[in-house]
Amino acid sequence: MKLGIIGLPNSGKTSLFDALTRQQIETPAYPGQIGEETHVGVIKVPDGRIDRLSEIFRPKKTTYADVTCMDITGAARGISSGRQKAAVMSEVWDVDALIHVVRAFEDPAVVHPDGEIDPAGDAAALELELIFSDLELVETRLERIANDMKKGVGKHLESEQAVLEKCRALLDEEKPLRNLQLSDEEKALVGSLQFASIKPELVVLNVGEDEIGSDRTAEIISGLNDFYQGKEAQVLPLSARIEMELSQLPPEEAEMFLADLGIGEPAMNRVIREAYTLLGLISFLTAGADEVRAWTIRRGTPAVKAAGKIHSDIERGFIRAEVIAYDDFIAAGDMARAKELGTLRLEGKDYLVQDGDIINFRFNV
Ligand code: GDP
Repeated sequence: MKLGIIGLPNSGKTSLFDALTRQQIETPAYPGQIGEETHVGVIKVPDGRIDRLSEIFRPKKTTYADVTCMDITGAARGISSGRQKAAVMSEVWDVDALIHVVRAFEDPAVVHPDGEIDPAGDAAALELELIFSDLELVETRLERIANDMKKGVGKHLESEQAVLEKCRALLDEEKPLRNLQLSDEEKALVGSLQFASIKPELVVLNVGEDEIGSDRTAEIISGLNDFYQGKEAQVLPLSARIEMELSQLPPEEAEMFLADLGIGEPAMNRVIREAYTLLGLISFLTAGADEVRAWTIRRGTPAVKAAGKIHSDIERGFIRAEVIAYDDFIAAGDMARAKELGTLRLEGKDYLVQDGDIINFRFNV
């Protein structure tokens, strides 16, 4: 699973990327050159259940779920043509969901590409880039279909044409394709087109360190919410600079820093959780003396496929899954007691794995 961070230059993308991936990539105050390298990193998905299970099982190894993250540095206003666009869009196409960073922080030392802090305006500008790029794709494809039809070889393309017309109508209204409810069949028809505005999106408002919870911030959020109304995107405020600093402190110091700020947990944890939800992902857990581990799957995955996440042999030789919900396990205290209580149960191949299921697969190869 891959997340891509987009936003105008100097909005705080790299700061957020550093915070998410606990890296320390430099964040220059002058916007980088378009086409500069994209940073790629891995986000460990924070999970209190894994922490707790590790305390109980004291395993040799603890492994959190992870998500790949790309800092797409070249996405800027006015890129909707030419080579820059091709470079940036190919990165956007490659990710499963977008985190769009919008700048609210004021700092004369950090140049804004338009010289003025305008969160709703900036957000709208970048959303339009995605929409225009998709519109171009749709129109090019529609023209080609029309030509084929003229030549009498395009009869089979009628249903694709119908879906594309739906897409065009929406894009013409400057709405993203993620708003469109398409059936699986319709999706397949346009699946080869690399749409950008169809990606699920989380909007992160990057506010100044002393502006968290301020009236100005509330006003900006309300403006952004107005813009995003009906566009299927969620707005989350945070200070990328604080998050970056937090991510680089040793755990005890980070806790003290959080307490000083009066915050319970880093906003980063929420960003990661929201992104996970946005992608329709859940975790199932395995726990034993060797390893306590979270595994990422899509919601609605049957047990036999979940087994395949661990090893193809387990999928192939799947017999049964011993399953218990995390909360039931904690309530029972241990597996023996859970068995007595009947909360530890056996499930077959088609059982749909739930978030937080602790699973032991029985298999035979
Ligand atoms: P990018 O160009 O979108 O990747 O933005 P960066 O993360 O590189 O940030 C650009 C500059 O803004 C850097 O100098 C950051 O330190 C600074 N910056 C990021 N977030 C904040 C913030 O909340 N407050 C202030 N004052 N500066 C910030």
